[in-house]
Amino acid sequence: MGFIDKIKKYKWIAKVILTTSWADKKKIISGFKNADQYYEIENTKTNMKDLLKCTLCPNMCRFECPSLRVTQKEMYAPATKARISYHMERGDIPMSDLHSAEVPYICTNCDGCQTWCPMDISAGDLLRGVRADLVAQDIYIPGVKEFEEKVVTAKTAFTESTFSSNPDFNVNMENPNVFYYTGCVMAEKKPEAVKANIEILKFAGVSFCTHTDKRQCCSGPLYTLGFDETVKKFAEQNLALFDESGVEVIIADCPACVNTIKNTYRELGYDHDYKVMTTGQYYAQLIKQGKLKLEHPVNISITYHDPCILVRKLERQPFIDTGNLDPELRYNGENELDSSRYIFSKIPGLELKDVFLHGQQTQCCGRGGVSHVHHPEISDKIGKQRVKQLKDMNADEIVSACPACEEGLNYNGVELCLDIGEVLLKAIRK
Ligand code: SF4
Ligand code: SF4
Repeated sequence: MGFIDKIKKYKWIAKVILTTSWADKKKIISGFKNADQYYEIENTKTNMKDLLKCTLCPNMCRFECPSLRVTQKEMYAPATKARISYHMERGDIPMSDLHSAEVPYICTNCDGCQTWCPMDISAGDLLRGVRADLVAQDIYIPGVKEFEEKVVTAKTAFTESTFSSNPDFNVNMENPNVFYYTGCVMAEKKPEAVKANIEILKFAGVSFCTHTDKRQCCSGPLYTLGFDETVKKFAEQNLALFDESGVEVIIADCPACVNTIKNTYRELGYDHDYKVMTTGQYYAQLIKQGKLKLEHPVNISITYHDPCILVRKLERQPFIDTGNLDPELRYNGENELDSSRYIFSKIPGLELKDVFLHGQQTQCCGRGGVSHVHHPEISDKIGKQRVKQLKDMNADEIVSACPACEEGLNYNGVELCLDIGEVLLKAIRK
């Protein structure tokens, strides 16, 4: 978010502070300046300074938190989860108390809290760090360790046959420029979208490889659950494969894979120079450069579900989107704005019916934070709420750009959620 946007977003805080007495203003400023004295814990995987701020906050973001919304339990409001976590980190509550250890897991990592946070904090990121501290001490809530073991054995989030049963996905051209990193969820649950992506890349004349016989899970789900040491092993093996392939660009059909390869690997110490983006972002670039022509009208209406990770971790969409933004301003060629709506604006005949909560104000599909693995009831309730919002738009199709969202929405009542690649393919071939 740019400086001007930040001022616009947070100007209400300045207004509130201005209305206080000089004595209170002094107290607020000194509280911020001297906050360090209230935390003295070292070597945590969470940011204790921010966790403390979150702990002291009057829960400004609470109405945005899907876990709180569906559980209706104050214990699962972002600041309350931060408070319990803070006391666990300090040892005031034993980490081994599984009742408390469950709290940081009641979070879909949707970053909805950060959208509203006056301090630009993601309670989700803080809670993820707390989960990593639990894992570091071998403390697991039910379902978590079993999931990690499954991924380590199968090398995918599903089974060993996810890729071997789809040999067509293994496309390896000579001297490729692009590595199409096929996500486990897309391959397992939406093979038709993988086929669409392969067809689009071939149509655009892109020289690419997939190496689906060698690639391993990006391990993003394991990072979310706190298994940092396991993620490092996956990072090493995947980066070795990217290096071997000689590409400069990595594209993935899943925003979580992109976030993991682009940001998490680097955060864990595996720096690299690859340009990493989603398939949608790459297509937006090809369209902008005139390399992908969309000539066939697609005369349908769609409602688009913005994936949290895409809009809140990988792009910077308008904070309040009235829908009137010039499509050219939605994508500046640098993957920073709104690649999906840029693509939709270029498809002839396509009508986008945006749901009220869209763009940065999107709502989680319920599958974030791998919640369906450890808290399926909460995950499904969140998913059903989102499905209702999307269905109420009465569009011909519901579309997304993340296989986990598409799967979650399907599971919770959308008959068929299309991937952005599938819609795009309709515009490039008859
Ligand atoms: S994320 Fe921000 S707004 Fe939400 S409770 Fe924490 S500090 Fe407050
Ligand atoms: S990341 Fe999402 S689910 Fe987690 S605390 Fe923030 S708003 Fe709630």
